[in-house]
Amino acid sequence: MHEPKLTHLAQADPALAALIEGETQRQHDKLRMIASENYVSTAVLEASGTVLNNKYSEGYAGKRYYEGQQFIDQIETLAIDRAKALFGTEHANVQTYSGSPANLAIYLAFLQPGDTVMTMSLAHGGHLTHGSPVSITGKWFRPVHYGVERETGRVDMSKVRELALAERPKLIICGGTAIPRTVDFPAFAEIAQEVGAILMADIAHIAGLIAGGAHPSPVGFADVITTTTHKTLRGPRGAMIMAKAEHATAVDKAVFPGLQGGPHNHTTAGIAVALHEASQASFKDYAHQIVANAKALATALNELGFDLVSGGTDNHLILADLTGKGIGGKPAAKALDVAGIELNFNGVPFDTRRPLDPSGIRLGTAALTTRGLTEQHMPQVAAWMDQAINAAIKEDTAALDRVSGEVKELLQGFPMPGYTS
Ligand SMILES: *Cc1c(COP(=O)(O)O)cnc(C)c1O
Repeated sequence: MHEPKLTHLAQADPALAALIEGETQRQHDKLRMIASENYVSTAVLEASGTVLNNKYSEGYAGKRYYEGQQFIDQIETLAIDRAKALFGTEHANVQTYSGSPANLAIYLAFLQPGDTVMTMSLAHGGHLTHGSPVSITGKWFRPVHYGVERETGRVDMSKVRELALAERPKLIICGGTAIPRTVDFPAFAEIAQEVGAILMADIAHIAGLIAGGAHPSPVGFADVITTTTHKTLRGPRGAMIMAKAEHATAVDKAVFPGLQGGPHNHTTAGIAVALHEASQASFKDYAHQIVANAKALATALNELGFDLVSGGTDNHLILADLTGKGIGGKPAAKALDVAGIELNFNGVPFDTRRPLDPSGIRLGTAALTTRGLTEQHMPQVAAWMDQAINAAIKEDTAALDRVSGEVKELLQGFPMPGYTS
C-alpha cells in the first residue's frame, strides 16, 4: 500500500485511489531500470503533497507579486541555499517546472532566434532540448552537433574543438540522456572559452552522482548548469538552474517572467527535502553504490555476450546494442517488462534502424540501488535479462512469467520508499 496512506483519496475518489495503489504495487514488484527514474523518500512525498499547492508566488523571495509569502519565501530560500551548498555554486534557481523548460530558459537567457548552439546529437546521447529538429530548440535556433566515435563510443574532444572553431556557437551544451561515460567538463570549458561561447552543462541524469562525489562536477567550468531533480538526485519531478554569479540575473529573468508564471511551491519544498537528504553521508554511499552496481552489471552483461556502447560504463547508465542478440530494442524492452524488468528501447550511435524501432536498450541502476541491491545481485539481474531476451526470441511466455516471479520474490526483501505491505 501507498505510504503515506491515501485514506481521504480512497473516500473521495476510490477509482483513482485504486489506480495509484496499483502503480505503487507495480513499482514494488519490478526491477525498475529506466535510467531516468528512481524512488523518492516518503519525506519527499509528504513535502510534495501539502497545502503549498494552494499558493501563488510569482517573482522571487522578497520581490513577489502577491501577498502572503511569509513561509513560501523561507521555503524557496532554504531550497536555494541547500542547492548552493550541496553543489558549491554561486547562484541557484529552483523554480523551473522540469528539465525541458530549464533548458529552454538558458536559450532565452543567452541566445537570439537563429543563433548557433553546439550540442551532443540526439542519436548519440543528447536530449531533445539540445536542438532536435522536432523541438522548439531545433526550430527556433541553429543547432550543430558533435557525437561519439564509431570505434570507441566516446566523444573525441579534438573533434568537438574543430567543430566549435568552424561553427562559432554562442552556446555549447555538454551532457545528455544516454551517455555512459564521464563528461569532460574541463575540456568543454577550454573550448567554450576559446570560441567565446557560454558553456551549459546539462547534468539531469548525473546530478545525484555529482552531489555524492561519484562523478566530477561541472562547477567552476560551466557558466550555467541545468538539472532535473528527479533522476539520480532522487527528488520530486522538477528542475534547477545553477550559475556563476555574473549570470544570476539573466537566468532568473529568463525563468520568470521570461518563460513561466508562478513556481510550484510544493515541488520546491520536495526539492529542499531531497537536497537535505543528498547532503547526508549516506547519500555518498548511495551515489558510489549506483556506479558500482552499473559497473558490475556491465561486466555481467559483457560476459553474457551483450554489446555495450563504449564497452561499459563510468556512471549509472548502460546502453546495449542488441543486434548481435538477434532482436530489436523494442520487442526486447516489451518482453523484459513482462518479465518484471522495466527499461526502455533506445537508439545506439550509428543506429541503422528507425528511432521508433531501434537497435538498443538503455538501463540504469539508480532505482534498484535505492531499493538496496548491490554488486552481488547484478549477475542475477544480467542473467534474468538474458533469459527474458532469449524467451522473447522463442516467444516463450512461460519463461517470461517465471522470471517475473523470481524478480518479485527477490524484491520482497528490499523495502521500497513510499510503500508498506
Ligand atoms: C531528462 C532530461 C531532460 C528533461 O527533463 P524533463 O523533466 O523530462 O523535461 C533534459 N536534459 C537531459 C539531459 C535529460 O536527461
